[in-house]
Amino acid sequence: MLDDAPALERPPEVRPSTPAPLDWLRPLVTCVQPASREAWPVQAPFDGTLVGTVPRCTEADVAWAFRRAREAQAAWAAQPVRQRAAVLLRLHDLILKAQASVLNVIQAEAGKARIHGFEEIIEVALSARHYGLRAPRLLRTQRRRGLVPGLTAVREHRVPTGVVGLIAPWNYPLAMTISDALPALVAGNAVVVKPAEETPFTALLGKHLLREAGVPPEVFQVVTGLGEQLGPSIIREADVVAFTGSSETGRLIGEQAGAQLTKCSLELGGKNALLVLDDADLAVTADGAVRACFANAGQLCVATERLYVPRAHYDAFLTLFKQRTEALRLSSAFTYTADIGSLISADQFAKVHAHVTDAVARGATVVTGGHPRPDLGPYFYAPTVLTDVTPAMRVAQEETFGPVVSVYPYDTLEAALEAINDTPFGLNASIWTRRPSRGQAVAARVQCGTVNVNDGYSAAYASVDAPMGGMKTSGLGRRHGAEGLLKFTEAQTVAVQRGLPLAPPPGVSVSLFTRGVTAGLRLVRNLPGLR
Ligand code: NAD
Repeated sequence: MLDDAPALERPPEVRPSTPAPLDWLRPLVTCVQPASREAWPVQAPFDGTLVGTVPRCTEADVAWAFRRAREAQAAWAAQPVRQRAAVLLRLHDLILKAQASVLNVIQAEAGKARIHGFEEIIEVALSARHYGLRAPRLLRTQRRRGLVPGLTAVREHRVPTGVVGLIAPWNYPLAMTISDALPALVAGNAVVVKPAEETPFTALLGKHLLREAGVPPEVFQVVTGLGEQLGPSIIREADVVAFTGSSETGRLIGEQAGAQLTKCSLELGGKNALLVLDDADLAVTADGAVRACFANAGQLCVATERLYVPRAHYDAFLTLFKQRTEALRLSSAFTYTADIGSLISADQFAKVHAHVTDAVARGATVVTGGHPRPDLGPYFYAPTVLTDVTPAMRVAQEETFGPVVSVYPYDTLEAALEAINDTPFGLNASIWTRRPSRGQAVAARVQCGTVNVNDGYSAAYASVDAPMGGMKTSGLGRRHGAEGLLKFTEAQTVAVQRGLPLAPPPGVSVSLFTRGVTAGLRLVRNLPGLR
């Protein structure tokens, strides 16, 4: 099946108006009988044309993918971890070499500006390098202190959990499928990925690259189709579920996984705030805020949707921010000439526009934007800055996931922090100040899994040695760092007892035994070398 795919050196030249240029990747989908499967169309957001079709998989296909993955997993796990780590390092080199073709595919089906596709290339390279170099140490068997010093030898092993069911969103279709699979793979798991309906081809190209890097094809399976149809069978079959998507879907997945006690990590939505402190350089902050709010047309889990500015600097900041927002270049170019691309789909477009119209109807002021850009493509939306936003508006409460930001003045830092934390979400925050130590102190008072000082999101997100994820309803578990690897393992403790067991020896009464143990515990508590 894999050999039918053209070699990577001959990628198709993707243009959104070209009919079905991505179908060469279709045979990489795992399904029982690919030919008889209903076709699922994938649309180019830039112009609404068809970029290709993938099979609409069924529950039987999911079961088959898991069966094949499970059969292959044991041999993969039996390889020395250094061998699996070497595969990641090869992927690092491959993704950098193949970036132009990968970016074409990402742009064709996700409709994003090329620079935001490049963020995904960086993410895969960083994760591949990080886990490729550090996983062997993080997964190494560790000696632990035993019950009876000298008599109990204890080792903690890290064993792969089995087969991971990875369910991904469309907004970063390479990072959320391939990068998130890397720690699972290096830990010795097999992975079955279900990419979002909108962006299956990027995951398939990722599978092609993983194969080139040395991941056996059975160890990384891709099933394509509808989340609500395939989700329950993925959760039923998986040993651990790794989900990234909306908090709404995350709740459903958490319930299903909980009912059968399947481990699961959930990376969910946010309503992220950017706080301008009163000592911030306003011009530098306005530049950073534009990137923080409008990267990937705001379709980024860690993007800023709420901006808090000291009242004394409010007008000056708003003027700078408006100027920079209006200077953004929107385009569907397959080159680095655009700052912002399209929204992904008609649904996303409708949601974003509904948030803006609801806000305006309830009294919000549009500083700039607030309207579609049909001259550029069906789902382009002007970067939008709102003021006079009140809690009754949808845009104040819900994740918009589009190029829309509300700017609020604040009078005291206490009031700003109260407003920032007054949300069920807790994903990401950004703080701007001339004094980084002050930024760090304020960060400790923000209820978010990542906080960036003098950056919007990439400083924390791309520092892959540190965990990334959400507090409150923004998620359970973390990607990146040691946690992002160990969540795909089980800890197994093996203790070897020599000599005396923890039981009365023959001829010793229970009461004498308990007095002896009590004396022993006191001794150990007080002897520095033993405790
Ligand atoms: P979504 O929840 O609609 O879909 C995500 C995935 O879940 C898709 O593959 C979809 O097919 C699948 N799905 C849908 N219903 C399902 C069900 N009932 N059972 C199982 N799977 C199901 O999210 P989306 O619109 O694709 O992505 C946008 C959301 O993702 C935003 O809320 C964003 O904040 C979030 N996100 C979070 C992070 C993070 O790291 N925290 C990263 C990227 C995106």
